[in-house]
Amino acid sequence: MADITLDAVTKRFGDTTAVDAVTLTIDDGEVLGVVGPSGCGKTTTLRTVAGFETPDEGRVLFGEEDVTHVPPERRHAGLVFQSYALFDNMTVRENVEFGPKMQGVPADERRERATGLLDLLGIADLADRDPQTLSGGQQQRVGVARALAIRPRVLLLDEPMTGLDARLKRRLRDELGELLDDLGVTALYVTHDQEEAMVMCDRVAVMNGGSVEQVGTPREIYESPATEFVADFVSLEPVDLPFVTR
Ligand code: ATP
Repeated sequence: MADITLDAVTKRFGDTTAVDAVTLTIDDGEVLGVVGPSGCGKTTTLRTVAGFETPDEGRVLFGEEDVTHVPPERRHAGLVFQSYALFDNMTVRENVEFGPKMQGVPADERRERATGLLDLLGIADLADRDPQTLSGGQQQRVGVARALAIRPRVLLLDEPMTGLDARLKRRLRDELGELLDDLGVTALYVTHDQEEAMVMCDRVAVMNGGSVEQVGTPREIYESPATEFVADFVSLEPVDLPFVTR
């Protein structure tokens, strides 16, 4: 996978500056969290990386390649959205094989990839099920398998835990965090839940009003917040982090 760069990206909608001169790098194999309150520009940032939004100013780079004007289907980004429903008219396996099929990957290889990913995610026994018969957590894993099946250059996750109950969320958070680590996936992880980001991500960018207030490791953000906003945001609730003792 390549490293991803947003270089002074600005995106406006009418009078609203959703993303304001944001510069961020996601290193190869890194999971970068983007956190902040509702409306701060997280999703727009992610959509700019995916190619669903074109910046008014600035550039998006995948490795050395300037993809600012490259359409989404040519960026090979894997998407995991809470609202990105699975295809109901296909089995789990067909869902996972769909992306590679569209890319023209031969049937044998598609099958092999899907089998490997379903195994990896611990859902091999669900391969022939219809998605609507699965639990929220199971659907989420299928969503991740489907996104990874295209061998994405970057994995983009937008609030993938929304709608899951708190216990399942905690378990999946740990599992998904480990999985992304093990796979060495380059990922952008958008969430309004600072604890989720702190636990899952290598580094975290805290956004406020379209701007990035601070980027750093969870420990840096937590122990040395750069601004009052960051301090307030990360201390909203007691956090269960390995380095925090209360
Ligand atoms: P949330 O956590 O609520 O999803 P967010 O941090 O992801 O919020 P964005 O969805 O990126 O925030 O929105 C940033 C700002 O841009 C908001 O003020 C929003 O209303 C505005 N915005 C986003 N998309 C559009 C659009 N298509 N048209 C007009 N305004 C938009």
